[in-house]
Amino acid sequence: LKRKLIAEATADNGVAIGVSDSGVKVIVRMKPPSKGEEEEMIVKKISNDALTINEQTFTFDSIADPESTQDEIFQLVGAPLVENCLAGFNSSVFAYGQTGSGKTYTMWGPANGLLEEHLSGDQRGLTPRVFELLFARLSEEQAKHAERQLKYQCRCSFLEIYNEQITDLLDPSLKNLMIREDVKSGVYVENLTEEYVKNLKDLSKLLVKGLANRRTGATSVNAESSRSHCVFTCVVESHCKSVADGLSSFKTSRINLVDLAGSERQKLTGAAGDRLKEAGNINRSLSQLGNLINILAEISQTGKQRHIPYRDSRLTFLLQESLGGNAKLAMVCAVSPSQSCRSETFSTLRFAQRAKAIQNKAIVNEV
Ligand code: ADP
Repeated sequence: LKRKLIAEATADNGVAIGVSDSGVKVIVRMKPPSKGEEEEMIVKKISNDALTINEQTFTFDSIADPESTQDEIFQLVGAPLVENCLAGFNSSVFAYGQTGSGKTYTMWGPANGLLEEHLSGDQRGLTPRVFELLFARLSEEQAKHAERQLKYQCRCSFLEIYNEQITDLLDPSLKNLMIREDVKSGVYVENLTEEYVKNLKDLSKLLVKGLANRRTGATSVNAESSRSHCVFTCVVESHCKSVADGLSSFKTSRINLVDLAGSERQKLTGAAGDRLKEAGNINRSLSQLGNLINILAEISQTGKQRHIPYRDSRLTFLLQESLGGNAKLAMVCAVSPSQSCRSETFSTLRFAQRAKAIQNKAIVNEV
């Protein structure tokens, strides 16, 4: 099934032209081999949308090989995300994959302590590029439709979910925050810091501060950072006048950039007490995301609505309004193409296949 891109003109609300996409967009990105791995690359790109692993073929929306640049990934998922956001959709990109497969590199840029200078070089990741385009597009819309007096605000937050506990990455003294839901605000995190960003400099400061507060910078399989989910959210509020009747309209949409915990199976050998509890919790958000993906894919395939247990983990509860329904979702599934990662790579590709089966329009979100 080829995905259709539909240009949607939103003539009545001023923040024009968006790209609508009928399901979850799935990109597989292959990491360049580390030293010594060059000989044993088992994942091979065979076309723009297909790869093989041990003679099995998988098809997705796009395959990014080890030579793919950060800009190419941005063109595949970042630019459409901005257009979707401007068209009023909640829009998210998730990075999924085992530890060391390139999620952090893809989402933010060169790993291990992001510095401000990393945010302007070629290696800068998806997030800074998304905001470059967002700010440019918002100014363009303001200039193009001056009569509508478009005003906008971008409100950002940055949090980490570790061991099913939410910590504010912009103020790490705020720990164990609770998710609330009400009719007026929808789903939100109580007491979470929100900062307005007006330009790239503001954004860079937030990213650098937030990532520095992430649990340990190291990316070994056992590092805590590999077991935490990082969620950067920007609420874009726009306010403008309608040309037709001069009345004001107000629109909000949400961008989520999510660097998920490593998808590798946690080894529980020898774990006891707190450590055991922690191991169970760490996977809860990720396994619940997997369950949701299965349920959403099943609804898409059978057309039968069923209960979607968004509230069963912090991650899925928090992102409830961005999964399914009218939301736009892209997944970058990161794989390491070497033989030693074979079984985790298979498991990532299977997850990616289930995600690709989701047709969001078929899903009615519960309120
Ligand atoms: P993860 O977040 O999945 O644990 P990282 O993003 O930290 O993985 O990637 C592991 C290492 O590989 C890092 O040193 C990172 O800079 C490097 N790396 C990952 N993907 C790429 C890529 N596409 N090009 C160059 N280096 C990469």
